[in-house]
Amino acid sequence: MSEIPARIPAVELPEEEEWSADGVGVSPGIAIGPAYLYARISLDIRKRELSDEELAAEPKRFEDAILRAERDLKKIIDVTRDKLGEESAVIFEAQLLMLRDVEMYPAVLRYVSRHRINAGYAVHKVMSKQQLILETSESEYLRERANDVQDVQDRIIRHLRRGRILSSIDPETIVITESLTAADIVLFSRRGILGCATDYGGPTSHVSIMARALSVPSVVGLPAVTNRIENGNSIILDGIRGRLIVNPGKETLKKYISRQARYRRLIHEEKKLVSLPTQTLDGHRVGLEANLELREEISQLKEYGAEGIGLFRTEILLLMEGRISVSEDEQFVVYEKVVAAAAPGCTTFRILDLGGDKLLPMSHRERNPFLGWRGIRVMLDRPEILVPQLRAILRASVTGTTRILLPMITDLKEVRQFRSIMEDTISKMVEEGIEINTAVPLGIMVEVPSVALLAEQFAKEVDFFSIGTNDLTQYVLAVDRGNDLVANIYKDLHPAVLRLIHLTIVAAKAAGIPVGLCGELATNLRAVPILVGLGIDTLSASPVYLPSIKRIIRVMNLKNVEKLARRVLLCNDTDQMDTLLDAWMDEYAVGMSLFIERDTD
Ligand code: PEP
Ligand code: MG
Repeated sequence: MSEIPARIPAVELPEEEEWSADGVGVSPGIAIGPAYLYARISLDIRKRELSDEELAAEPKRFEDAILRAERDLKKIIDVTRDKLGEESAVIFEAQLLMLRDVEMYPAVLRYVSRHRINAGYAVHKVMSKQQLILETSESEYLRERANDVQDVQDRIIRHLRRGRILSSIDPETIVITESLTAADIVLFSRRGILGCATDYGGPTSHVSIMARALSVPSVVGLPAVTNRIENGNSIILDGIRGRLIVNPGKETLKKYISRQARYRRLIHEEKKLVSLPTQTLDGHRVGLEANLELREEISQLKEYGAEGIGLFRTEILLLMEGRISVSEDEQFVVYEKVVAAAAPGCTTFRILDLGGDKLLPMSHRERNPFLGWRGIRVMLDRPEILVPQLRAILRASVTGTTRILLPMITDLKEVRQFRSIMEDTISKMVEEGIEINTAVPLGIMVEVPSVALLAEQFAKEVDFFSIGTNDLTQYVLAVDRGNDLVANIYKDLHPAVLRLIHLTIVAAKAAGIPVGLCGELATNLRAVPILVGLGIDTLSASPVYLPSIKRIIRVMNLKNVEKLARRVLLCNDTDQMDTLLDAWMDEYAVGMSLFIERDTD
């Protein structure tokens, strides 16, 4: 472990040059303080041949290490349950189970006796194999799960060596590290760290979710920052914009100290809004729902005032299991819990959106996965995956209000085909005497331009629309949503995207069906007045963003934003649009600029 750094007060004038790096902000907030470079102690995993006597004692030594690791994890589970609730403790409960996994525990003992080798080396051999399978998975989510296996492996090996699990972390520091485990972030937050920045990681990682839940401002995906930062460097971490500033100059520091104060004020004020209705000054109501990916987020629904679940990305939860073929019963258990948590609000179950950057139930590679076998295309070809999911959702539908949402629809035929499968499934379940709601509304994601352009036709055949701007933007502007090289061309507030959103809303209104929006655009506060002005019924986003969306809605006037939307629709480029939006923000959203500024400078 590196030396404990000398504490550098945040206000001290830095001598070195200021520089910054942009990553992904996964937990909002602003932290200012000294860097604490956290390097995982590299475990010395030496292969050692055992004498007869040692060989006889090794199983007991291994069991003792497992017992100690269990004690650690139980403590972490208690802390997590206490601070975050049962749902968040699930990660560590899974790690606890790994310790006595039927594939791991006996395999280690077999390896020890067969090769007459120390248990530490055997653990490394056995668990690294499991880790490799996860690391080489096509799914980003499963790749991130490899960290959990690593964490368990490290824990056992440290206990075999009777080493300490966690080196002391200085409180009030910003932890800079290559990557973290979910256990690290729970323990660090207990020690009062200010924030966290990592070289690797994505917004769906457990660490990111825990950081959000524990309110530790965090930025991930900052390649090689650990090589450039030294212990004690003065740091500003902006979890809203996803930026890290190192050795900030006087002016920058001043700006961020005031930004931090404004952020704290905003959060304080927003907390008071949670129980208030989401409506404009003139009483126009807008639905505010949550996008949910993982069980850990269930506890956040009420905390952030979600009225329901606008988008439940079922694939993420199922992929946690590491397999696609999760049984109907297993899915039902999870779905029922989610519906109950969202009640009396509605839960919108999106049918598995596999493909693209998410794991496919077969291993062949596609040249253009985002234009390939994805979403509904996969599901219609694989009834053995679709039908159990559908049955599980229908069974959960008696617990509370539910809806079914289809991803990646491009053609009406897909909707008709799905509807016919759904009708057959319903008839069979009724015949089987299973209690279900036979009238669950069926809607589609509007995320492919063909659907927005033909929205009038689609509106006659579905019960609701949900606009997925993440994909709609990538397909309209022909820009890969996950490719850094073209990230500057990816503009969710592009006039072409807005016109398709407009077409979709107009078609929905004409047909009398509800229309929501569940892409990241809903969290862009500059976009919210336009969306409300265009007539969107519901906005759905990650729970942490809901209070600020509500806040901006509560300062607008419907007539006024309708006028703004009409003017914005006439804009031919983003510059024209920015001018209009800046003026609107200056006039109506003063003091809320913190989140709004995130796309500038
Ligand atoms: C979208 O495409 O906007 C969306 C909400 O779905 P996902 O991000 O899961 O593709
Ligand atoms: Mg999508």
